[in-house]
Amino acid sequence: MSTATVRYALISSIVTLGLLVGSAATASAAPKVAKAAVAFGTSGPSAAAVTSAHPCQSGQETCVSSDPKVALSWSSSASTSGCGFGLVVNWGDGKPAQTIELGGSKNAKVWTIRHNYPGGVAARQSYPITAKATVLRDKDERGCSIASGATTLVLTCTATQLSGTSWNTRFPGGLSALELLNDGFRPRVEQFATAMSEAGITVRPTSTLRSPQRSYLMHFSYKIAKGQISPADVPAYVPVGKESGPKICWQHRTATGKKDAKASVAAAKSLLGALGVDSTLATPPALRSRHNTGDAIDMSVSWTQPTIKIKNAEGRLVRIGSGPKDGTNPKLMAVGASYGVNHYMPAAVDRNHWSSDGR
Ligand SMILES: [Zn+2]
Repeated sequence: MSTATVRYALISSIVTLGLLVGSAATASAAPKVAKAAVAFGTSGPSAAAVTSAHPCQSGQETCVSSDPKVALSWSSSASTSGCGFGLVVNWGDGKPAQTIELGGSKNAKVWTIRHNYPGGVAARQSYPITAKATVLRDKDERGCSIASGATTLVLTCTATQLSGTSWNTRFPGGLSALELLNDGFRPRVEQFATAMSEAGITVRPTSTLRSPQRSYLMHFSYKIAKGQISPADVPAYVPVGKESGPKICWQHRTATGKKDAKASVAAAKSLLGALGVDSTLATPPALRSRHNTGDAIDMSVSWTQPTIKIKNAEGRLVRIGSGPKDGTNPKLMAVGASYGVNHYMPAAVDRNHWSSDGR
């Protein structure tokens, strides 16, 4: 009787299945079917050949998949009758190793050991998997053998989890309506905005009230886009009470599972744009800001006339004949302050940000 070698493969999706190496009947008389395609799914083995992008055959070092449901499979296309095998599988997730016994089979067989990793963003990492296989029985001394396995599963983020422009609509905000400002700050902004309009200044509000979740997205997409933080180092959103936070995956990976800095930065940049962040902003949008309480407004302010006259809160006309002709003009900022609308300082760092206290 020829050797019955049981080979293994890591299947990254139980449902979509994999391609298994058939057994090695090593005797010279063995039929030329050393590699038989075997498909199997929830309903068990079937003869149909399938192609799967993700099975990790014996000897392959890395298996890349976004599916947290995996299975290790051992297969034999020859009879393993009288054989008994033992497996000690360490899934690399900190849990105790799993001990399994596989019984021999008269016919070709696929043995599948399933494992579910968590699917959350925090669990999207590499798992070194080892499976130590031993022969427990060889009743008829026919040379039962089984292959041990070692591979690394790189559990990648799903398309839904990955950072990108779609997050803009999932945590809305960035609304420009003045009505969203709180009752203390809103009247001051309205009076200042009216005075500016009457002076011939063009005022365009771009952002008022903003959720802290959106602030988080803005803050970290800015920092990744500007190379100020590695995507892998971005902390998870810390929810307050029962609020839900963005479970976003900042780390993009290549098809082979390697960290893809270029793709991560590109996705952060496109998200930053989608969130409506001013491209000239010289500081990351704050994680917790006056916007979260309706105490801040971003508005672009400009005029073209050589000289403007604007009424301050005391009703006095202030003449502004010097530049710059935007929200960073020191005289205009002084007028804003008289209304209790204070520009961010230093002004050039965040050109459009005004708040109850300048922060
Ligand atoms: Zn702002």
